[in-house]
Amino acid sequence: MPDLEQEQTILVVDDEPVIRKLLAALLANLGTVELAASGEEALRKALALKPDLIVLDVQMPGLDGYEVGKRLKATVETSFIPIVFLTANITNEEEERGLEIGATDFIRKPISANIVRTRVGNILKFQAATQKLELLASTDPLTGAYNRRHFMETGYNELLRSKRYKHTFTVLMLDIDHFKAVNDTHGHNIGDEALIQTVAVIQQTLRAEDIMARLGGEEFAVLLPETEKAKGALLAERIRVAISEIVVETPTTPLTFTMSIGISESTDADTDIDDALKRADDALYQAKERGRNQVA
Ligand code: GH3
Ligand code: MG
Ligand code: MG
Repeated sequence: MPDLEQEQTILVVDDEPVIRKLLAALLANLGTVELAASGEEALRKALALKPDLIVLDVQMPGLDGYEVGKRLKATVETSFIPIVFLTANITNEEEERGLEIGATDFIRKPISANIVRTRVGNILKFQAATQKLELLASTDPLTGAYNRRHFMETGYNELLRSKRYKHTFTVLMLDIDHFKAVNDTHGHNIGDEALIQTVAVIQQTLRAEDIMARLGGEEFAVLLPETEKAKGALLAERIRVAISEIVVETPTTPLTFTMSIGISESTDADTDIDDALKRADDALYQAKERGRNQVA
């Protein structure tokens, strides 16, 4: 599940050890500082660490800062990371070039401690605010799970990836059984608590690369990348059992409940994540018809 509590990461790239050391010391209070001594190392670390900001020296032997910046912006996974170029006596022409590449800001050499700290601090604050908005736009406030919009976006990307690499993925549609009766018997707050615990239990069962979302009400979806149906079915069964073992304390009798799950594997003919979801939904309907608390 998404998490915003981590400290922000700043990647400092400069070929001169003295400058790296200086920047590491100046920026230490603002986040975790990682260092790279060349353009090549910068590209590797940017991809691996996904820093919140990159301070990038322009003049370096080998790949220079502008070339690194261009490559970072051309790579999906690093294209959104703000870049601050570090450069001595910057000309208008250079500034223009940097901005065209997508620079967020510039820092002049020799370095002024206060300017560096303030510039980097401002950008990190803006990044944190943007990330918070992205999180709000992609998650469900009650359970913290991803929402339908995020699931559809991620699902579409996985569909494209699966076609490119010729593997399949599996989707699960999950729906709590007789949830209306849970609310009617125990009240809406206990119903909410059941939803929160449901999300926690599903999440514990999944691998880091799997995506779970609350599609609405008491209906959830799970995307299992690079997973065939048989393996997805084992996982679904594990989820089903784990859900049936949840006990929600109430002022009266403790609440237990069950879940029905439909499964579908992606096919070559699928053009949208909706195609697989629709089949999983049909399977879910069968699971309900056959008596609920089962995987179909
Ligand atoms: P089935 O086994 O066929 O799935 O029956 P069901 O009762 O689970 O399905 P139905 O669609 O009839 O009812 C879903 C209920 O979920 C109705 C609604 O009040 C409840 N619900 C939807 N969203 C929330 C929520 O955020 N909190 C709570 N407490 N209840 C919710
Ligand atoms: Mg240099
Ligand atoms: Mg239901």
